[in-house]
Amino acid sequence: MTDCLFCKIIAGDLPSDMVYRGDRVVAFRDINPVAPTHILVVPVDHHPDVVHLAAKDEPLLTELVTVAGELAKAEAGGQFRLMFNTGAEAGQTVFHVHAHVLAGHPMGFPG
Ligand code: C5P
Repeated sequence: MTDCLFCKIIAGDLPSDMVYRGDRVVAFRDINPVAPTHILVVPVDHHPDVVHLAAKDEPLLTELVTVAGELAKAEAGGQFRLMFNTGAEAGQTVFHVHAHVLAGHPMGFPG
């Protein structure tokens, strides 16, 4: 999508700190981290949110979660929070599905 921020990052038209690039999934560091490890895992294909992704391409959702786990293991020993904000009321600001991988310090719930 031409007006999508994450499509532009994936295409290389906007800068990012990319930590993983596969054929169908990429991952880059969040520009405004809220944990020592804060990575966004993002499908190359544009889907607005995780519910749409699950309905349209379940294997891609599985790949997203697998990549999240591998990155969290490499960076923080494998214990992490995986978060999909879904909808503006839930805090979603970029409507290209992305999994927040948060790790590297003790976390309560919520917060
Ligand atoms: O879940 P939500 O849609 O709010 O997450 C979007 C995330 O994208 C934010 O955490 C924001 O810091 C991040 N972001 C980024 N690089 C940008 C723009 C936003 O990492 N250029």
